[in-house]
Amino acid sequence: MANNVTGVTREDFDNVMVPNYAPAAMIPVRGQGSRVWDQDDKEYIDFAAGIAVSCLGHCYPPLVDTLQKQSQKLWHVSNLLTNEPALRLATKLVNSTFADKVFFANSGAEANEAALKLARRYALNKFGEGKDQIIAFNKGFHGRTFFTVTVGGQATYSDGFGPKPGAIEHIDFNDLSAFEALISDKTCAVMMEPLQGEGGINSSNQQFLIAVRALCDKYNALLIFDEVQTGVGRTGSFYAYQHTDIKPDILTSAKGLGAGFPIAAMLTTTDIANSFSVGTHGSTYGGNPLACSIAEVVVDTVNDHAFLAGVKAKSIIFRNALGQLNEQYAIFSDIRGEGLLLGAELTEKYQGQAITIMNKAAEEGLLILVAGANVLRFTPALNIPEEDISAGMEKLNLAIKKWLSV
Ligand SMILES: *Cc1c(COP(=O)(O)O)cnc(C)c1O
Repeated sequence: MANNVTGVTREDFDNVMVPNYAPAAMIPVRGQGSRVWDQDDKEYIDFAAGIAVSCLGHCYPPLVDTLQKQSQKLWHVSNLLTNEPALRLATKLVNSTFADKVFFANSGAEANEAALKLARRYALNKFGEGKDQIIAFNKGFHGRTFFTVTVGGQATYSDGFGPKPGAIEHIDFNDLSAFEALISDKTCAVMMEPLQGEGGINSSNQQFLIAVRALCDKYNALLIFDEVQTGVGRTGSFYAYQHTDIKPDILTSAKGLGAGFPIAAMLTTTDIANSFSVGTHGSTYGGNPLACSIAEVVVDTVNDHAFLAGVKAKSIIFRNALGQLNEQYAIFSDIRGEGLLLGAELTEKYQGQAITIMNKAAEEGLLILVAGANVLRFTPALNIPEEDISAGMEKLNLAIKKWLSV
């Protein structure tokens, strides 16, 4: 109340916004680190970080500084010109991964769209017509453009928009025999998240990954890792593939890459990249100097041994705290995930109640997420202070206590 002198209210959302979201009742107005304040100056601990995006917390001073400096230099030039921050950032990404080449976009869906188009064009150039099958996984999520949402593993998100892009097949995640039965010379690409985020925090198993890699090689299919959510330190490695025994052919990155500023990247090898020539694909804003200068600081900060060790240490603190909550209340059947991409699945008794707990937590001043109806999801800033973890867990404890006692 005190703070809301702007006259803007949550009701305005229903009046002027397309109704494809159902945002919470409160409107956040500022943030610092892992804390956020709403219009009434109520404080929240942030275990969501804008859905695994604000990986360095809100208004991280070096990012604010970079944004200010670059905003006085050059914002946008289009891709008819290149720019220094884009070239520096691309070099950093190449030096930190399997990749030789980078394409910049503005969102995860756009990076995935580029990856899928590149894979189709590569297959056409190298092997001719008919090699166009894309294999993807149930519960996978790859964004909301029509191509990416169709490759995603939830038909309800892609139904109802007319004819879908074709030659896309889905099987269960980690189901090797289904995969072996499906892949063939017709397969152009396999797209997967190394750890499914939106679909419920589901890890891939190592043997499955190794077998998928081998079969992709056997049938000349490209392996695309969607690391939009798992990338940029989220799982405790710079990219999640880096703690597996395999490498993808194409990798997409977004969310944490800009730490809250929109930017995405598609990474690949020179051989594959060469299937795009001048004019094959493009983006007006992709790789603009403002976004790239910010992402440079993000990469420099996160791709650091001590920083990544910190993510793993905080992961253990998080898991232990969730384990303690479970000892107290016995509400979780599983606590899983990697790094600071964690999920707690509700037991049989509490099916469908993840959203209720999320709302109760918000009442106590804690922002968390869900992944489906039965999983609480935690994706805090990677540099969240330990005292904010314990303060947030106390709020979660209180929220659960109140929820169970009604
Ligand atoms: C969030 C997400 C996307 C979509 O990213 P947008 O920036 O919303 O387009 C794609 N893939 C995965 C794995 C994601 O988590």
